[in-house]
Amino acid sequence: MIDVIVAGGGPTGVMLAGELRMRGVDALVLEKDAEPTKVVRALGIHARTVELMDQRGLLDQVLALGKQYPLGGFFAGIRKPQPEGLDTTYRYVLSIPQPVTERLLIERASELGVEIRRSCQVVGLSQDDDGVTVEQADGTQLRSRYLVGCDGGRSTVRKLLGVGFPGEPTRNETLLGEVELTAPPEEIAAVVAEVRKTQLRFGAVPLGEGVYRIGAPAAGLAENPRVPPTLDELKHQFRALAGTDFGAHSARWLSRFGDATRLAEHYRVGRVLLAGDAAHIHPPMGGQGLNLGIQDAFNLGWKLAAEVTGWAPDGLLDSYETERRPVATDVLENTRAQAELISLEPGAQAVRRLVAKLMDFEEVNRYLLEQITAIGVRYDFGEGHELLGRRLRDVKLNRGRLYELMRGGRGLLLDQTGLLSVTGWADRIDHVVDVSEELEVPAVLLRPDGHVAWVGDDQQDLIGVLPKWFGAGVS
Ligand SMILES: Cc1cc2nc3c(=O)[nH]c(=O)nc-3n(C[C@H](O)[C@H](O)[C@H](O)COP(=O)(O)OP(=O)(O)OC[C@H]3O[C@@H](n4cnc5c(N)ncnc54)[C@H](O)[C@@H]3O)c2cc1C
Repeated sequence: MIDVIVAGGGPTGVMLAGELRMRGVDALVLEKDAEPTKVVRALGIHARTVELMDQRGLLDQVLALGKQYPLGGFFAGIRKPQPEGLDTTYRYVLSIPQPVTERLLIERASELGVEIRRSCQVVGLSQDDDGVTVEQADGTQLRSRYLVGCDGGRSTVRKLLGVGFPGEPTRNETLLGEVELTAPPEEIAAVVAEVRKTQLRFGAVPLGEGVYRIGAPAAGLAENPRVPPTLDELKHQFRALAGTDFGAHSARWLSRFGDATRLAEHYRVGRVLLAGDAAHIHPPMGGQGLNLGIQDAFNLGWKLAAEVTGWAPDGLLDSYETERRPVATDVLENTRAQAELISLEPGAQAVRRLVAKLMDFEEVNRYLLEQITAIGVRYDFGEGHELLGRRLRDVKLNRGRLYELMRGGRGLLLDQTGLLSVTGWADRIDHVVDVSEELEVPAVLLRPDGHVAWVGDDQQDLIGVLPKWFGAGVS
């Protein structure tokens, strides 16, 4: 029996499969499409995701593939200078087209030994006490101990589970594409600037050599949103809004997306879990969806691996939903708020002006950016030190730096006292005795996803916490 089947080979599914495989779990990805998509949805990787890439040894590659832009302007497009003191080494947004990010994650997963089976569509599932039977479109069945639906916003897995997906339906659709434009660049820039005064969903961003990423509101809702628009449809919308289609031709790809906001009622039903867009969808404001999915995978990967390999304490796998669903709720809330703030209605514009003034307060500006970049995420681990439940930024140590020590994906006791011990858990936790001028606590226990599980200097206190996250110690 396969350990884990991942339905969907998008960024969430492939990241998750890599997280499982690096811990010795046998993970198979079933992807319905024959080829990776060329459609560029996400363009932005935020600080927390860059941090995760660093913790997996992918930092040099993502930096080489992306362009760094300042973080200002991410909340509802309100431009403000970057606030002081953002608690991360990566104070920029990294612009990388989604297909490039996906390629990088696929390469990593494949190197780790993950099999990604293409043209394999999941159409059915049933589960019992021992495992899950997964049915594919060609009628074949596979058996696994767990199944994770990373199959996007229209998730088949979620529907087969009967998990509700309440929220608001799409009210507006936007057409998107990569095309060649023949009009002079200055003319395009001037017209776009003019139209955007009253229509923020209109745009044409030059990608070089006459190719542009263009977007425009659709005339209405498509009968079948899965069917991409035609170039004529996009040109028609351009002419309607701007009086010109800039001589658009030779589309590389065309797509449409809606502004629905929905959250799955549950992330787990027995042996089947949901992650990424399969669990939450929202408009792309602030560029958060792909980041959120990758971070879901990072949270779920070590927990599911612990369950499969047998050391997971009671409740560990359920903590995936307890921790990640509130994070998605917050993202849905902030994208809802941003959607209101870009409306051109007079009331919304007044609120926008007010928010813009509030963002002149450093703390407000920083708070909003901590949300968008996800560095402000704090899981509820109960009362305790202010670091508890938060992720720790990378810090320099006497020998090296923190994130380099996290590449094995295990727990980590960073011990500045040299007096502590994780004997009994040494197969799950690395114990590093070192000192950092940037760390004001004697010792910190990090979970494999980098979130702080304990702070202190008392061995008995530490031993009281270890089983909660790392299961029983071995003598
Ligand atoms: C215009 C736009 C701009 C965006 N910009 C950003 C941004 O800047 N930053 C950001 O973080 N996010 C952004 N997003 C959101 C981001 O694109 C998504 O959140 C992200 O793709 C979700 O990844 P996923 O792996 O969860 O789902 P998906 O990328 O949807 O992948 C799901 C995969 O599952 C496969 N699949 C579906 N059904 C089945 C089945 N039954 N069996 C097998 N396989 C199946 C699909 O073919 C697909 O490959 C943007 C979205 C849009 C539309």
